[in-house]
Amino acid sequence: MKVQLRVLVGCLFFLGLLLSFHMPANAKTKFITIGTGGVTGVYYPTGGAICRLMNKIKKQTGIRCTVESTGGSVYNVNMIHKGELDFGVAQSDVVYQAITGTGRFAGKPIKDIRVVMTIHPELMTLVVRKDSGINSFVDLKGKRINIGNPGSGQEATSKVIFEYCKDVVSLKDFNPEYLKAAECPNALRDRKIDGYFYMVGHPTANIKEAADSLPIKLISLDIPCIEKLVADKPYYAWGEIPAGMYKGVDYSVKTFGVKATIVTSKDMDINTVYWMTKVILDNFDKFKKMHPAYRHLTKKDLLKGFDHRWIHPGAAKAFKEEGLL
Ligand code: GLU
Repeated sequence: MKVQLRVLVGCLFFLGLLLSFHMPANAKTKFITIGTGGVTGVYYPTGGAICRLMNKIKKQTGIRCTVESTGGSVYNVNMIHKGELDFGVAQSDVVYQAITGTGRFAGKPIKDIRVVMTIHPELMTLVVRKDSGINSFVDLKGKRINIGNPGSGQEATSKVIFEYCKDVVSLKDFNPEYLKAAECPNALRDRKIDGYFYMVGHPTANIKEAADSLPIKLISLDIPCIEKLVADKPYYAWGEIPAGMYKGVDYSVKTFGVKATIVTSKDMDINTVYWMTKVILDNFDKFKKMHPAYRHLTKKDLLKGFDHRWIHPGAAKAFKEEGLL
């Protein structure tokens, strides 16, 4: 009995020592916010999954994490730069262009963006009403198509597509709309739009909502101008939306995509980024179960889709400890 008591006291003392080592008694709680996207996309639950894991260890780290629904990739990158968001989720094409000052960031690079890790693959998805008469990309002519709200990744990537494919269909050949992704399923059902582009992980609640409320089709984007785009840009890759993800879509869809990337500022402290990365690595199996879009993820995948010179040192520290970097 006495021995057990001594062991217990010893353990408690050791635990106390550990805790005090990680968080001084007078340390204040640090609040961090992750900017995501629309609530029915995959960014929002991704921010939620990361915060849930981080908040479980908040006594140890002193960090409290919250999620914000935002306009998407471009908005998140801009707000991190302005110091109004601590972290954000953004498409790897947007991250690449922001850091290198290319594409829509030509002449105005955002050099203070750093990468924590990439998460799920996102695919450029063209959702249309089944009775829209749209069977391929060229049929978009004369239709009302949502390309995405300003600040979203789909708006950014749609503009790239219509520039590359302008000989087939340009933005002037149809009526572009700029609705938020979360508004699209209703707009499609109410015939305010004929279709919408969404760069998103699959499955997503957004397209599920559309498929459950009206007959839809997903259109493949394997056309020559997009083949050229994917061949030209290092940050695009071909992918496939598997059959059976959504009601009525019992065929697979070939399209291209990017990777959802967690970003922060170079000024974010090493400790905070370290804990965010470590808690995901330490609880990877649990994390993978938090959204079906993570089903194929491996720890190694978290380092794919970006130039490793852009990694935040706090993330690099956690990946090195894990032997992955
Ligand atoms: N890729 C979209 C964007 O950057 C968001 C997708 C999502 O919310 O899952 O705006």
